[in-house]
Amino acid sequence: MIKFGPSGFSQDFEKEFKSTVDMPQWLLKHNLNCYEMAFTYGVNLADETAKKYGDLFKESEIEVSVHAPYYINFANPNEEAFAKSVMYIVGSLKKMKLLNAKKLVFHPGTMMKMTREEAFNNTYKNIKRLIEILDSYDDLGEFYLCPETMGKHGQIGTVEEIAKICSIDKRIIPTLDFGHINAFNGGSLKTEKDYENVFKILKSYLGDRFNKVHIHFSKIEYGKKGEIKHLTFDDEVFGPNFEPLAKVLKKLNIDACLISESNGEQTRDAEIMRNIYNVISKNN
Ligand SMILES: [Zn+2]
Repeated sequence: MIKFGPSGFSQDFEKEFKSTVDMPQWLLKHNLNCYEMAFTYGVNLADETAKKYGDLFKESEIEVSVHAPYYINFANPNEEAFAKSVMYIVGSLKKMKLLNAKKLVFHPGTMMKMTREEAFNNTYKNIKRLIEILDSYDDLGEFYLCPETMGKHGQIGTVEEIAKICSIDKRIIPTLDFGHINAFNGGSLKTEKDYENVFKILKSYLGDRFNKVHIHFSKIEYGKKGEIKHLTFDDEVFGPNFEPLAKVLKKLNIDACLISESNGEQTRDAEIMRNIYNVISKNN
């Protein structure tokens, strides 16, 4: 099943509302059924508030995912930095239990001054250690860690790297950010085949569980070093286009929440994607 929804507050939401309390009714009004909340600059949400949001989203049958803080960097070989990254993950997971959220998106790591190989090996090893540490907690509930495919060349997170990381444990599933994949490779996603290829890579590492993923979609401007900035569906230059992906999602029976990260138009563009997907589903 595919669910559709926005990440954070879109500009039309902000014209009417100020608080996440109003988000469930807003999403219901727009016929959307998932939502991503970002802990971008730290886990600064009171338990009581998290519980209140969690109850509201549950009542409305809206699936919530969380984006972990941007400070996480599992490529960093420094032990203190590793402990901090672990702390951000554990802090997010604890809040997620109150929010009734199961999927935690995070950026795996940045290369700093290392080679790509060195940075990736650190990331892989540290996420393995992270899983061992998480296993020592008995109060985290059910969760999925969702490392994201990244758009800038200095970041760890090609499709292949994410697939390898996900092969560590069944509780790690990919966040496929197709705008990032397209931007990283200078516009590589055009045809159905291009999109199918992404899932083929996942399948080669993850076998039958290749079709359980989390998805971010937006058009993204790119340059020589990959991602520059998030755009909206009004863009006609950079892409990628959603139509071929919609066909592939249907064909491969993908199970995902599809989150729009369009710049300011997340709600509108999530609705556009849902409409395209529904038309394609009916015709097949
Ligand atoms: Zn992200």
